[in-house]
Amino acid sequence: MEYPDRFDVIVIGGGHAGTEAALASARMGCQTLLLTHNIETLGQMSCNPAIGGIGKSHLVKEIDALGGAMASATDLGGIQFRVLNARKGPAVRATRAQADRVRYKAAIRGMLENQPNLTLFQQAAGDLIVDGDTVRGVVTETGIRFRGETVVLATGTFLGGVIHIGLDRSRGGRAGDPPSNALAERLRALPFRVDRLKTGTPPRLDARSLDFSVLEEQPGDTPTPVMSFMGRRDQHPRQVSCHIAHTNERSHEIILANLDRSPMHSGVIEGVGPRYCPSIEDKVHRFADKASHQVFIEPEGLDTHELYPNGISTSLPFDVQLQVVRSIAGLENAHITRPGYAIEYDFFDPRDLRHSLETKFIHNLFFAGQINGTTGYEEAGAQGLLAGLNAARRAKGLEAWWPRRDEAYLGVLVDDLITLGTKEPYRMFTSRAEYRLLLREDNADLRLTETGRELGLVDDARWAAFATKREAIERESARLRASWVQPGSAAAEAVEARTGKALAREYSLLDLLKRPELGYGDVAGLAGQPVSDAAVAEQVQIQAKYQGYIDRQQDEIDRLKRHEATPLPTDLDYDRVEGLSHEIRQKLAAARPETLAQASRISGVTPAAVSILLIHLKKRR
Ligand code: FAD
Repeated sequence: MEYPDRFDVIVIGGGHAGTEAALASARMGCQTLLLTHNIETLGQMSCNPAIGGIGKSHLVKEIDALGGAMASATDLGGIQFRVLNARKGPAVRATRAQADRVRYKAAIRGMLENQPNLTLFQQAAGDLIVDGDTVRGVVTETGIRFRGETVVLATGTFLGGVIHIGLDRSRGGRAGDPPSNALAERLRALPFRVDRLKTGTPPRLDARSLDFSVLEEQPGDTPTPVMSFMGRRDQHPRQVSCHIAHTNERSHEIILANLDRSPMHSGVIEGVGPRYCPSIEDKVHRFADKASHQVFIEPEGLDTHELYPNGISTSLPFDVQLQVVRSIAGLENAHITRPGYAIEYDFFDPRDLRHSLETKFIHNLFFAGQINGTTGYEEAGAQGLLAGLNAARRAKGLEAWWPRRDEAYLGVLVDDLITLGTKEPYRMFTSRAEYRLLLREDNADLRLTETGRELGLVDDARWAAFATKREAIERESARLRASWVQPGSAAAEAVEARTGKALAREYSLLDLLKRPELGYGDVAGLAGQPVSDAAVAEQVQIQAKYQGYIDRQQDEIDRLKRHEATPLPTDLDYDRVEGLSHEIRQKLAAARPETLAQASRISGVTPAAVSILLIHLKKRR
């Protein structure tokens, strides 16, 4: 049958990409349908119930700055919060939260159900309605036809999903859920490049069968961090600790003795797995000299005894999993509640996408999440938001929008994917961004919320809170700039006591704040009234301390923009340009771009490479 209502945007898949896509489109005022296998699994975390961490929290905060759901759901569901790299510079600081799986999912579902313009429907999509080279809607596996202006596909690990436990195989989208085979076949018939990837998950454990007295406790931070710019500590449920255990030589012997029963190592799995999140058998095989690997024992929630042993993801047979788990100190009597497994699935080469995440071959069809070759909830959510917003803009007849690499990790993620493609599950790291000092997690709102407001993604409450914060930062910075400490004054004595150095002349409070030994709390009260909002104080401090570096990075960006018209000599020998990768040299030699701008648009030529070219040209002169 043909469903009577038409939609502006149809989103297929209620995972992390699909939910952000549907929410973004609906926030922008588009009539949106979220079509998913099962309403009970909206926002389900397939693997570890944790959000954020290095590189990933930057994406979560960017989603949040653009009005998305992930950070707020984390504040409502998070049971342990920590700031990683807290002693390092602000560019690499990252908030990580262990979430209660059930509470997180409930928070996402609540947001979806209460979002105006959004309709939920439970059923599997089996086909796309394609007219020439334009998508017009979706057909469910039972034959209901939904018409839409644009379609976002966010089906995660479900396309042609095959689950492996040892040498046993079964079809599935993840444990307990069916695969998407009809849709996978339909998509394979379209002109996209398709390949296989794999990922895995560890067995889960019953907390009552562990001896916690021999495990190292890892409590969350106090005061407890929040994930969302709108988040409040009092939204968090009760906080609990994680624990740390270790594999040992006996665990490794068991694994090595059974490698022939591993689907990865016996060649049964062909898909490539995540290099940065390897299975325990990969770790033991690849790092043979390491006698032990850490295992983080993380709670799955407040109302369950289930634990997630982070670090022993495996697809070894169940009997081997049990032996490995029980070889670990503190886990000798562990009961496994669910076996670990690996899953292989179809993904599409993201080089067949535009920056807007629209496919190049089928108009009005957008891809987001794991199907683009990424791994991780955060990477999926960020793409979902971008695809949903561009699907909505297309439905409204507006131009696409995406952030540049110097504006957001989301810009880095999409640019990497569509220009470089990926051969293994792609995850975000701070090292992927050239402009790390500009792209901090703490300033994601200052970078993106104003744009989000213009795009129609940011509601009045967030906009008002943001405007107040931005104004307070400007006011406080101006106050510190205009407040002076005179040598010999009581304020100067306080500074000298703290730094051990005499003040030779008068200094503004802002200049004093630039000193490494002094923090906002040391200087702000030396004249006048400090601000009480910790987020405002943090921004004022970071901006003061890092302004020099930030300005330099901004200059570099501006310089690159100015030099875009710079000609590249046709006889340039790219093999002699120091610092370029072999791959980029080959691409440049083959394409022979005439200007730096043309070079920068060649797939795989990064802004860092353009910078190197610029330096080389200057040396040649
Ligand atoms: P998903 O979260 O998979 O959501 C897809 C959604 O689409 C589901 O709701 C599904 O029901 C729905 N759907 C699928 N097909 C259809 C259809 N035809 N019609 C209607 N609805 C459909 N990430 C890491 O960062 N580290 C890890 O170690 C890690 N390990 C993992 C291990 C396993 C076993 C799995 C399954 C995933 C793992 N992940 C890991 C990946 C993480 O779960 C994903 O990156 C993330 O969930 C991707 O989000 P998504 O929205 O793209 O897809």
